[in-house]
Amino acid sequence: MNEDSDRKTSFSVVIPCYNEEKSLKELYDRLTATFSAIKGEYELIFVDDGSTDNSLYVLKEISNRDKRVKILHLRKNFGKSQALSQGFWYCNGETIITLDADLQDIPEEIPKLIESLDKGFDLISGWKKKRNDPVGRKIASRIFNFFTSAITGIKIHDFNCGLKIYRKEVTKSLVLYGEIYRFIPALAGWKGFLVGEVIVKHGPRKYGKSKFGTERFLRGFLDLLTIIFLTKYTQRPLHLFGPLGIALSILGCALDAYLALLWFSGQHIGHRPLLALGTLLIIIGIQFIFFGLLGELIVFSSRKEKDSIVKGTYGIK
Ligand code: UDP
Ligand code: MG
Repeated sequence: MNEDSDRKTSFSVVIPCYNEEKSLKELYDRLTATFSAIKGEYELIFVDDGSTDNSLYVLKEISNRDKRVKILHLRKNFGKSQALSQGFWYCNGETIITLDADLQDIPEEIPKLIESLDKGFDLISGWKKKRNDPVGRKIASRIFNFFTSAITGIKIHDFNCGLKIYRKEVTKSLVLYGEIYRFIPALAGWKGFLVGEVIVKHGPRKYGKSKFGTERFLRGFLDLLTIIFLTKYTQRPLHLFGPLGIALSILGCALDAYLALLWFSGQHIGHRPLLALGTLLIIIGIQFIFFGLLGELIVFSSRKEKDSIVKGTYGIK
């Protein structure tokens, strides 16, 4: 909740595009028409993520005519996370809006997002309630969103909607790489930002092809594992590795103690596979504990004195 409601009078729209030559002109026209009815300044930052079609050429033509249109040209195709991340880095607005370049996200929905952000949120994510995608993807996405919401505790329905609006503080504090952009609301919520959602219309892809298939959703679950690890244990890695290491070591000690008893009672134990297992568990357990301690060392040495977790200050100049 921001006290200063005037701060959001400058907008940066960040648009990742990878081979979207056919949609760009229409997207630009519709964005310009939408912003003509919105109070405040704006800039449109198109991030060309190493397109191999004429996207860059089309963007340059638009940018030559309109100074509010800026282009970031990435050296090769780095993926949507990197494209967004670079866009966030270069943008100047107080309020940042993202949307896909393929016209599936509807530019005319932007005023609705602004209005919702005004209610005191830090991030509003679009919810494509009626999704215009193949049925397989819809089902996969339902499952993915259900698990992500249950595990991260962020109660929204659609984590991966391209249409989102952020206060600058949020985009400045996000670290995006790989396919992590799918979890932006979870990452922001973990940092203490207030995350909300609003239902938005979703169009079919008019031109070109989707860059993502159903298989990406399966890989999304691996990314979910990363998110659980990042959001729950970044500040305390020993709490993850420690109990695991102690449990394995105890199990190993118990097995070896049992074999020691047999040995004292006169039995040969040198040929028992259980001996190898017990010893292995002890060694792995100790290694886990040291992984945890190494993790703590990394967290300690990379900690920042000033972090983006302060929402406001009172009485400090
Ligand atoms: N995109 C990108 N880099 C990539 C893949 C996609 O910048 O490596 C952009 C793409 O141009 C589009 C947005 O990310 O603007 C979403 O991609 P797409 O429409 O293929 O995803 P879907 O809507 O099918 O999930
Ligand atoms: Mg799309």
